[in-house]
Amino acid sequence: MTTGPSVSGPDKGAQLYEGKAKKVYATSDPALVIVSYKDDATAFNGQKTGQILGKGEINNRVSNHLMRLLESHGVPTHLVRELDGRDTLVKRVEIVPLEVIIRNVAAGSFSQRLGVPEGTPLACTVLEYSYKDDALGDPLVNDLHILALRWATREELDEIASLTFRINDILRAYLDAAGILLIDFKLEFGRLPDGTIVLADEISPDTCRFWDKATGKKLDKDRFRRDLGGVEDAYVEIRRRLLGADA
Ligand code: UDP
Repeated sequence: MTTGPSVSGPDKGAQLYEGKAKKVYATSDPALVIVSYKDDATAFNGQKTGQILGKGEINNRVSNHLMRLLESHGVPTHLVRELDGRDTLVKRVEIVPLEVIIRNVAAGSFSQRLGVPEGTPLACTVLEYSYKDDALGDPLVNDLHILALRWATREELDEIASLTFRINDILRAYLDAAGILLIDFKLEFGRLPDGTIVLADEISPDTCRFWDKATGKKLDKDRFRRDLGGVEDAYVEIRRRLLGADA
């Protein structure tokens, strides 16, 4: 059970799922579930594990803040209502089994795979898909893999791509004003029962690369992945820049 005065949502029912960074609980309404963000952190497909103190609450609040921003620009999301520190009520969706990745600047696996130094500007924005399968290491796939294996239809994939580019434009402009460069990020989409595609999962320092615009300092999970130190401080800094000092 959740506690605290801000809780007005449905009771947490049975745990349906536990992922690497979140748990999902049933509610009395079959169309809604509660997502609960954990402090647990993993990297390199689960080979590195640890905890980032306070991450669950920060990711919950940051992700909801950014989803509300996107909703205000007409992007449909799974968000219903933040319940408390680490819990949020969301629409139950069937997740499309893809990691949808946007790259504005070379970094991470893109840099490694293609031998391009991190921080290299790209002549255009790159959209990539990975098949969500830990056992296979989330392999990179293209549109035809997705259609051939029926992970999404052509119409769904067109919708996902168009939403993703719009989301990139909205987030980049918003983050730029907060002094943050959006280097790359990963999105996941789901289907509502009527087939509508909505943004699901999270948008947080776990799933985005955020670099300080002035100094280039990494303000995201790379501090954990690469043992750069100051991990908790980076998450706190992102919360402060996006939600203010009192958040
Ligand atoms: N990402 C993620 N989950 C994953 C893989 C990547 O959220 O399982 C995010 C990651 O934080 C980064 C972007 O997607 O913002 C691109 O990640 P990349 O492919 O470079 O992989 P990484 O270097 O993180 O292994």
